Amino acid sequence: MRCSSCEPLLDRYLEGTLSPREMIDTNAHIASCSACARLLEEVKVVDALLFTTDVPELPNNFTFAVMAETLSMPAPKPHTHRLWSFFALYLTAAWMAALAVFAVSGASLPKLGVAVAAAFGNLAQSFAGGAAGIAHGAPVLATFGAGVLSIDLTLAAAAAGIYFIIRPRLAAHLASTSEAQ
Ligand SMILES: [Zn+2]
Repeated sequence: MRCSSCEPLLDRYLEGTLSPREMIDTNAHIASCSACARLLEEVKVVDALLFTTDVPELPNNFTFAVMAETLSMPAPKPHTHRLWSFFALYLTAAWMAALAVFAVSGASLPKLGVAVAAAFGNLAQSFAGGAAGIAHGAPVLATFGAGVLSIDLTLAAAAAGIYFIIRPRLAAHLASTSEAQ
C-alpha cells in the first residue's frame, strides 16, 4: 500500500468501518510507515477535539461576579476633543477647496509649493496693506484666498445661524411642549 491510498482511509480506520482487507493493509502500512503513523495520531487528536461535548463549568456566582466587575470599571470619559475635530474638518475642507482650485486652474504640484509659500507672503502683506495685497497677487492665489475666506464666512454664518436663530427657537419649542403636558 502507498501513502496516497492510506491517508484517505485513516478516518474510517479509526471508526472501524473499513473492509477487513483494507483494515489489514492499512494496519500493515501504518506499522511500517512512520509518516502515516504520525498522521493517524493527528487524526485521533482532531477527532477527540471534535467529539468533545464537555461544557466548561461556571461558578454559581458567575453572573454576579461579571456584573460587579463591570460596575467597578471607571465610567468612559466624555469626549473633550469636539472643537479639535471641528477644526480638523475645517482645515480638511479648506485644503480640499484649495487643491480643487489648483487642479481646475491647471497648476502643477511643484508650483503648488511655491504658490503656498507665496500665499503666506501674500497673507502677511495683506495684513499689512489691507485686502489689496490679495488682489495684487496672481489670479490663482486670489481665488485660493477667496475660497478659504468664503469657507470661513460660510462656517461662521452657519455657526451664528445655529446659535442665534435655531437654538432659541428650539428652546422655546421645548419649553412650550413641556408646558403643554
Ligand atoms: Zn505511509
